[in-house]
Amino acid sequence: MRLLIIEDETRMAQALQSGLRADGFAVDVANDGPSGLEAARHGSFDVVIVDIMLPGMSGYEIIRTLRSERNWVPMIVLSAKDGEYDQSDALDLGADDYLTKPFSYVVLLARLRALLRRGAPARPSILTVGDLELDPAQHTVQRGGTDISLSLREFSLLEYLMRNAEQVVTKIKLLDHVWSAAADTHVNLVEVYIGYLRRKVDIPFGRNSLRTVRGAGYRLTADPA
Ligand code: CA
Repeated sequence: MRLLIIEDETRMAQALQSGLRADGFAVDVANDGPSGLEAARHGSFDVVIVDIMLPGMSGYEIIRTLRSERNWVPMIVLSAKDGEYDQSDALDLGADDYLTKPFSYVVLLARLRALLRRGAPARPSILTVGDLELDPAQHTVQRGGTDISLSLREFSLLEYLMRNAEQVVTKIKLLDHVWSAAADTHVNLVEVYIGYLRRKVDIPFGRNSLRTVRGAGYRLTADPA
């Protein structure tokens, strides 16, 4: 089992790391918000333990960012008793459990084991259209087994099109679902992003799966090779 501890108090982080290592866990440590977020994004951890007050980016922002990226790694929040946030905020934002500092190591270990016993969190299943596959939980896209790297926005756009495959989806609908409440968006933006997507999921593979339906919108089809 691999754990990530995001904690700026180095003595606390080191004590946790050596205790958890002695209990058989592989443990990585990040000492500030941004490096913690990067580690959580790219490492494959079974649980992330995150402090709230961190330099650079709070624990809350880390949780919110990961969840918005559909990263469902189980997270335990460590919060100070008189902190500016409420513990229920942590759970609202998508943490799985929290502990108030100071906490006992034995309690942390028990919570950790309970979380691991719960198993992998429920995650959306993989979407498939022809040989195009999108995994909302792992945030990956493949065409015929070849990895495709998409920006967050391109990913959301493709995900929506895949959930509505073989149907005509209007530009307005795409704006609503992919750009949500953004104020100054225009349907032209959808056209631009459809162009980006084609250059990543179709053109390199000699496909034409992302069709323009003139005057109506777009339709994603299986388009066999
Ligand atoms: Ca702190």
